[in-house]
Order: sequence, then C-alpha cells, then structure tokens
Amino acid sequence: MSAVRNKLLVLNAGSSSLKYKLFQLGENSALKAVASGVCERIGDPAASFHRGKAGGGGEQKQEAPLPNHTAALEVVSKFLGDSFRGDFTEEVFGVGHRVVHGREISEPVLITDKVRATIEKAADLAPLHNPPNLMGIDAAKSTFASAPHVAVFDTAFHQTMPPEAFMYALPYELYVERAIRRYGFHGTSYKYLTQQAARMLGKPESETNLVICHLGAGSSMCAVKNGRSVDTTMGLTPLEGLMMGTRCGDIDPAIIPYLASHGMGMKEVDTLLNKKSGFLGLAGNADLRNHLEARFGPGSATADERSKLAVDVYVRRVRKYLGAYFMHLDGQVDAIVFSAGIGENSAPMRREFVRGMEFAGVKMDDAENARAAGGVQADVSAAGSKVKLLVIPTDEELSIAQQTLQVIREEKGTAAAA
Ligand code: ADP
Repeated sequence: MSAVRNKLLVLNAGSSSLKYKLFQLGENSALKAVASGVCERIGDPAASFHRGKAGGGGEQKQEAPLPNHTAALEVVSKFLGDSFRGDFTEEVFGVGHRVVHGREISEPVLITDKVRATIEKAADLAPLHNPPNLMGIDAAKSTFASAPHVAVFDTAFHQTMPPEAFMYALPYELYVERAIRRYGFHGTSYKYLTQQAARMLGKPESETNLVICHLGAGSSMCAVKNGRSVDTTMGLTPLEGLMMGTRCGDIDPAIIPYLASHGMGMKEVDTLLNKKSGFLGLAGNADLRNHLEARFGPGSATADERSKLAVDVYVRRVRKYLGAYFMHLDGQVDAIVFSAGIGENSAPMRREFVRGMEFAGVKMDDAENARAAGGVQADVSAAGSKVKLLVIPTDEELSIAQQTLQVIREEKGTAAAA
C-alpha cells in the first residue's frame, strides 16, 4: 500500500543546530504539529545530541555523533520513522526551510538551482545564518528527494516598507548597483504575531496597527500599519537596531574605520560586532537570565555594575524604538506585542520597556504581567489602557508551514493549468 502523503516538515538550520517541526495536514487545510525537536552541537560529534518528541509522547534525548547536518537529518528521520512508520520519508509531501536572507527574492519560493544560488550569494549579507540554512537545504534535498522544498525568507514581511524606511542615506548607486538597503528580519515571526494579535484584538489584520517586539538572542522590533510592516530595526543585515545577545545593534559607523586605523582587520571587526558585543561584550555573558538578578534582584544595590548597565542599555534601546514607532503610526497603536525568549518570559523587562508610557495611553496590569510566561498568550494591559499590551509566543515554524503549503498548492495549480 502506498504511503499517505500528508506530512509537512519545517526545518530551521543554524550553524550548529537543526530545529524541526513536523505538521500533519488535516481537514480545511489545518496544520497540526505532530512532532518537534532539535539537534544540537552539530560538528562536535563527542557532544552532539538530539532531543525530540512525537505523537503526544514525552521528550526523548539521544546522544548521537553528528559530524554534519546530513547526519543530523538522518537521526531526525530515523526518530520520526520509528515514531510514526518506517516509510515516513514517503509521507512528507513538502519541506519548508527558514532562510534568513534572499537578497531580491522576498516571496516564499520553490528552491530551484537558481534560488539556491541566490541564497548562496546572499551569504555575505547574513554570514551567521545563510550558510547553515544551505546546509539544511542540501541535507534535506537528499533525504526527501521526491518532495518539493520551499524557502521562506525572514526578509519577506518587510517588503512593504516604504523607500524612506528602507533607504540608507548613502550614494544612491550603492542601492542600484549593490542592492544596499534595509531588508529587515524575523519576518515569519512578525507575520504570525500580526495574525495572532489581530485575532486577540478582534479586528481584521488590514485594520490593525502594532508595535511588535521580537526580543530573543536576536532582537528586533517592527511597526505594523494596517497589518503590514512599515519599519523595522534590522537593516541590510541582522546587526542593526537593538542590542542583542552578542550583537551590538546601532553604533556610530565611524567606529569601524577608527578601529581599522588602530590595526584591527575587517574580519576581526566583523566578529567583534556580531559575536563579541551586546550582553556578552558589555557584561561577559550573552544570556539575559544571567543579568536579571543583578538588575532586579534583592541584592541589586551591590550587584555587578556591568550586568546592570547591560540591562539598562538594552531597555533604553527598546524604549527609543517604541517612541519612534509610535510616531510612525501617528500614535494610532492598537497594541504593543512582546514575543521571543525575553519578550515572552521576562515580566520585569516588559515592565521597564513601557514604564511611564501612560502619556501615550499605555497602562500595564502588573499582576497580569507577572503571571504571563510559559508559552501562553496573555493580555497584560490594565483596564482602560488605550493601547493593549499583548504577550504572544511566536511560532515561526507554523508560519513557515502555512507559507510552504501555499507555495506547493500554487505550483500544483500552475502545473495543472499548463
Ligand atoms: P533566538 O531564537 O534568537 O535564538 P530565543 O527567542 O530563543 O532566541 O531567546 C533566547 C533568549 O531569551 C536567551 O538568550 C535569554 O536571554 C532570553 N530568555 C529566555 N528565557 C528567559 C527568561 N525566563 N527571562 C529572561 N530572559 C529569558
């Protein structure tokens, strides 16, 4: 009997990790997550492992030597095969890949040789992300050879930004000849969060204005007007804007030639800005959790000054863009949305971001805010707050799955019509 091809796999390949979520297509195009997991420490076979759960079972952890992404995908396929059926790979009718940068390609697309080449070319604009994304694509294309593979780009949601938001004040030729402009990232997250926020507000997306804060190890914000991105904090690369775990965000660009004139090579500067700055650079550790106690804990009066400083720099940057985006939206903001690791989990940080914003119609319910964490949607605004404060766990994988399904269906429609 031939396999029922009703499963869609979403892959998000990082430099040393491979996250996945498997969806089953049900009635009315509903996509139900039936398995998820991650391979970590790929490239370090002595320490690498896989964690996954499938079909309502608990999480399983397996130590597994994973020299590369192909080996990781084999472990994932075996796990899913054992959890569902042996011919599981035949049940997968499509694979959706998160790809960070697509240069001029913004819509989700079928990964042809030409599209693959564009993703490869864009690697210089997203050096931390595009090369591992390609490793994931190559590994998956050999494992799921008969399924269509679709790339969903982090930049896509921001294609609606007006020129005054995406242009740098550089010589215009750099835009024309080298496509140097602001692209923005975390687009699949913003797309999903916009849908969910509109639903929570009971409004159509096309009439919903939001300031969305996607605050994780990588952090960015987005101004959404009538359901579409009109500005975002990241730029040509995911380095611009907010301070992050290891990235500096906005700096005076003159710092770069200054460092170069003092003997630092360009590669070194690049590593400094992308991998040694942010929380790590200011306070020695990239994870906000290690600095919260110093800033908010009972012993904060005597705690590590650098941890406190790092938290305050982070908060100030978020507040600066909150102010800017309220202006972009003419003060007509339905909700501020908090998401990703910091936005979803840290009540004291959310409190700081909106402190004193009553003048703009923003009032927080501190008890609700303190309660909101752990992967559930919450409205943490006080009664009568003109602007709602929403905590929404992001689900980039579901967003990628929905977009992948749409591309596969459109391709089938085109093929049938041809
Ligand atoms: P990314 O997807 O960009 O890798 P995540 O959205 O998973 O990042 O967020 C990870 C970050 O979220 C961690 O580095 C940590 O700083 C922060 N984080 C996670 N949980 C908490 C928490 N309970 N309190 C504060 N910060 C947290």
